[in-house]
Amino acid sequence: MNANLFARFDAVFGEHLTKPCLRLANGDTWTYGDLQRETACLAAALRSEGVGHGDRVVVRVPKTPEALALYLATLQVGGVYVPLNTDYTDSEVAYFLDDASPSLFITGNDTDVGVATFTLDEHGGGSLKQLASSLDPDSQVATRGDGDLAAILYTSGTTGRSKGAMLTHANLTSNADTLIAYWGWRSDDVLLHALPIYHVHGLFVASHCVLLTGSSMIFLPRFDVEALIEHLPSCSVLMGVPTFYTRLLGSALFTPEVTTDVRLFVSGSAPLTEQTFNAFEHRTGHRILERYGMSETGMNTSNPLDGERIAGTVGYPLPGVEVRITNDAGATLPAGDIGGIEVRGPNVFSGYWRMPEKTREEFRDDGYFKTGDMGRVDAGGRCTIVGREKDLVISGGLNVYPKEVELLIDTVAGVIDSAVIGVPHPDFGEAVIAVVASEVDIELDDVIAVLTGKLARFKQPKGLLRVDELPRNAMGKVQKNVLREICTDRFSWDEQGDSGVV
Ligand code: AMP
Repeated sequence: MNANLFARFDAVFGEHLTKPCLRLANGDTWTYGDLQRETACLAAALRSEGVGHGDRVVVRVPKTPEALALYLATLQVGGVYVPLNTDYTDSEVAYFLDDASPSLFITGNDTDVGVATFTLDEHGGGSLKQLASSLDPDSQVATRGDGDLAAILYTSGTTGRSKGAMLTHANLTSNADTLIAYWGWRSDDVLLHALPIYHVHGLFVASHCVLLTGSSMIFLPRFDVEALIEHLPSCSVLMGVPTFYTRLLGSALFTPEVTTDVRLFVSGSAPLTEQTFNAFEHRTGHRILERYGMSETGMNTSNPLDGERIAGTVGYPLPGVEVRITNDAGATLPAGDIGGIEVRGPNVFSGYWRMPEKTREEFRDDGYFKTGDMGRVDAGGRCTIVGREKDLVISGGLNVYPKEVELLIDTVAGVIDSAVIGVPHPDFGEAVIAVVASEVDIELDDVIAVLTGKLARFKQPKGLLRVDELPRNAMGKVQKNVLREICTDRFSWDEQGDSGVV
């Protein structure tokens, strides 16, 4: 049997040729037949450029239906899709081109990068679409095995070099099938798709659920709160990052009526705060379903579709996925203890591209992958994330899990959002700093007053930075590395003591 994921898509497309697949912001509709045709055209162009089994196609283009077709065409010809964040500059892209050594680079603008380069629109020195228009569409689907690569996703790489996570056809297929079943996906579902498609969330989780069930999606070029409110009434599912939900709640136009026909709101890619979960339920009556995943693994855990969705938790391991919590020595910890989250299953990637050492470091001998996240699993199997390992603060030799402190800071009157970081400190090694987003003035003492009696002294912030808004990337993740840089000199080495209000 052909394990090429595109063979699965192709079968669905063939059954739904006249059904709308993509509805665009300008009112245009692409049927499944349209998407299949565009894919076949681009597949012909890729093949004519010699792209075949295992060849990398690096792509940095805006989110359009053609860009989705390009992903599908790459799978169809047996290539390996390598999407890049559209914000990357040419000099940043140079690293990825060097690392991935692709056969082709498809980009939004004409650029000379020493790799065969095409654009995806009608213009530019080499337009892939123009090339395709001179060729017969190609509907042949390359045969691929379970373990063959389908995509490489570069991790965001806030520390060190960005690593390419190698995902196989079996990884993508199994995770998509699992999510479709777990979230009760229906062929009449309409997904509101406002996520970027260079990332696991928008490209795999969201698109695959639609394309494998013959359902449809409203395909917006980017997140825009007004557009979301305009289109939600004709949708049954929204997949978003937490910022989608906080922005929706910030709009007076976001009323319960807007959400009447929505059956499922999914959140992931960054922690959803309890405040947002509760405020959303209060406003709309819907309980957001939070799930947890990453580029290397696709989705690992999810709150249930029918059971209790608990704020601040990421639910249960998905069917077929095993999750365990370990200490530094690799021993599995009992229920409730905090440690490193490790996962194993058909969703877990096959390693980092051209980094065998790094791959060996991150996998246990029994096949578990060390996610780099910290968390706990309760006796019933429900998982909670307390932060990234690299965000753990060790103050005076004691572990401070940022999430625990952030949850309490979020209850301080006037606080909208918070992030806890560690910065170098002469006495303690690291000291806890609270970065607080608020519209009103907040002092360290206001925070300490709330934390006292609830949190051991060593976990309490020794400094505070007030900001209007926390810096977040496109996936809603707080950029703690940016905050650490800003605050790094707060407790300079010649200035003893622990005062230092930032
Ligand atoms: P990425 O590879 O860009 O998708 O980032 C994956 C990381 O995002 C994970 O390792 C987690 O640290 C974080 N993440 C994803 N989903 C959640 C969630 N629901 N809650 C907290 N962190 C999350």
